[in-house]
Amino acid sequence: MSTAFGQSTVLGYPRIGGNRELKKAVEAYWAGSIDADELATTAAGLRVEVWRALRDAGLDAIPSNTFSYYDHVLDTAVAVGAVPQRFAHLGLSELNTYFAMARGVDAEPALELTKWFDTNYHYLVPEIDDDTVFAANPVKALREYREAREVGIETRPVLVGPATFLLLAKPSVPGRDPIDRLPDLIDVYADILRALAADGVQWVQLDEPAYVTDRTAAEIDALREAYNRLCAVQQRPKIFVATYFATLDDALPALLNTPVEAIGLDLVAGPGNLQRLAGAGQLRGKTIVAGLVDGRNVWRTDLRAAISAGAAVTGLADHVAVSTSCSLLHVPVDLSAETALDPNLRQRLAFARQKVDEVVLLGRALRNGTTSLPAPLPAAPAAWYDGTVRGRLAALRAADRQRGGYPQRAAAQQARLRLPALPTTTIGSFPQTDELRKARAAYRAGRLDEAAYTERMRAEVERVIRLQERLGLDVLVHGEPERNDMVQYFGEQLSGFAATEHGWVQSYGSRCVRPPIIYGDVARKAPMTVEWSTYAQSLTDRPVKGMLTGPVTILAWSFVRSDQPLGDTADQVALALRDECRDLEAAGVRVIQVDEPALRETLPLRAADQKAYLDWAVSAFRLATCGVADDTQIHTHLCYSEFGEVITAIDALDADVTSIEASRSKMEVLDDLAATGYRRGVGPGVWDIHSPRVPSRAEVVEALRSAVAVVPAERLWVNPDCGLKTRGYAEVQASLEHLVAAAAELRRG
Ligand code: GLN
Ligand code: ZN
Repeated sequence: MSTAFGQSTVLGYPRIGGNRELKKAVEAYWAGSIDADELATTAAGLRVEVWRALRDAGLDAIPSNTFSYYDHVLDTAVAVGAVPQRFAHLGLSELNTYFAMARGVDAEPALELTKWFDTNYHYLVPEIDDDTVFAANPVKALREYREAREVGIETRPVLVGPATFLLLAKPSVPGRDPIDRLPDLIDVYADILRALAADGVQWVQLDEPAYVTDRTAAEIDALREAYNRLCAVQQRPKIFVATYFATLDDALPALLNTPVEAIGLDLVAGPGNLQRLAGAGQLRGKTIVAGLVDGRNVWRTDLRAAISAGAAVTGLADHVAVSTSCSLLHVPVDLSAETALDPNLRQRLAFARQKVDEVVLLGRALRNGTTSLPAPLPAAPAAWYDGTVRGRLAALRAADRQRGGYPQRAAAQQARLRLPALPTTTIGSFPQTDELRKARAAYRAGRLDEAAYTERMRAEVERVIRLQERLGLDVLVHGEPERNDMVQYFGEQLSGFAATEHGWVQSYGSRCVRPPIIYGDVARKAPMTVEWSTYAQSLTDRPVKGMLTGPVTILAWSFVRSDQPLGDTADQVALALRDECRDLEAAGVRVIQVDEPALRETLPLRAADQKAYLDWAVSAFRLATCGVADDTQIHTHLCYSEFGEVITAIDALDADVTSIEASRSKMEVLDDLAATGYRRGVGPGVWDIHSPRVPSRAEVVEALRSAVAVVPAERLWVNPDCGLKTRGYAEVQASLEHLVAAAAELRRG
């Protein structure tokens, strides 16, 4: 058997199944309606289906162990024995211990869930400390390798690499640094490599994406050390170190200096990798796996451009293979399931299955010299471009992104709103009951007509308004009962957006999302939220907040155009939102919240790219929000408390009020914000809505007292951490009672 890498590969493939079979099976197992054997059978069926599809497409280097019941970082934690004692002690079966780490059980909260680099995928953060006893547990990787071999397919098991694994982990004892455990962990990876080799594995893929972010020299040394030691293992498979999402920079020469046999580079998100490679000059004996097909977006590859990039790499390395830029986990499974898409759009798209074909074609083209390529696509239909929007954007002036000074705005707003000190409010959504979801589904399916649906939603809005009045909140919301998802809702109403029927992508565990596709110029066809907000406002004298999703978040949770700069698309969305803000204002809405929970998560991974991003992100937000008069109050909401590099950008958004996550960070975020010179309204979340726990009034009082020590009461707002859509009414009512009572107590002094 040849041990060359192969000509074409993918770094990973969706594991959810074309019809979300895995989600359904896993949830059925959790609900107790199927047993572990039935779950295992479904999972094995999905795996074999994927390998066969990849082989039949002509891929000659096929990954395995990319399947996961929940998350691949968690799988790697299990493979190296990093199961925290708090779960090991539960005495559950192996599978249930795994799900306990993923989802928590009554006695033990789950591992922390966090964003996988700058994607919308979330991984479980391994907990590592001095007592973690690493031990090789290659059972899953071996099982999947053997399963594939049984159907005649030789595969390359994939694991998160040791350095990235520790860099993504968190210490269970504060103050420790997981990377200090690298020497021990390398021993365990060495054991895993030996076990794989003993089974006949030829190649293993170790993912080291942590090195596409800025790393210290010591961390780069750790990477070099890790692979020097792993390569020294006798009887091991060949090692392919995969990286993705940006450029490797200084970690590239470090890796090239180790004996690893193959290195994967993302040439889509990190075109700079090519220059760096050209300057490296020590590629003898190495395979470069060139990530030429975008694993993050849904557009067909420009094959001609990809071939010339591939040819440039071929000139540098002994052997070049073609791959996707990253795992295909981030795109929907199969375009052929989409029968309702506009053919003009459809012919421009490639989902995971189609991307495999592209990789195969590119691999062949690079080996054989360019063969016959499909004809280039015709130009996009003129109808996708909107002259009015483009004209408006071209005519924008700096003043369009500028409001009056804050003191003058604050005075005008206060004269109109007459709010007490420490005004109370919520972030927008109220609990999404089953009944509401059913009503929306019935409306979509045509079983409920427009009038009946509207009546049903209005009844809900009225109920939520009355509840807030009874509770004594100061600034009310309509509760968002009509919204499925905060981006999809707007995507459905804007031109230039398309929705898919089956375009599901895993977000975390069994949760899948169906991001819209932005394909053309974005324009508002009609007011989007004005009816709901004005109806809500008509029911009460208290101010009701209009509720919009900001341009950055709309882009972050959609598949975006790649034919123009993101900032231009953001400005188009912003113009639509600007019109919406003006319409809300004209309809008598005095407070408007524009949510930007994705502002930080979309931040580029390399510091050098961050300023340009923040510039367009901030200016799009300002374009959306600066069209209103001084006495209209603009709020924004961010779902986190560690602002990091975006902290000055938050000040630059120039919102009158910023609500943030704070309850878990104990209000420290207020100091950070104050340190940037932020001097406008701020609402640190005083109730952690991510758990059903009801905070006591005393707790809220204490949180507010520590907040008042940093922020004067005139600028301090009282609100929960985030929207309440995932909560139940029992805890919402009790918690809001405590929140309002605590604010009243502080006002009394
Ligand atoms: N307004 C939204 C809500 O309350 C905000 C959600 C979010 O920030 N993720 O649900
Ligand atoms: Zn939030």
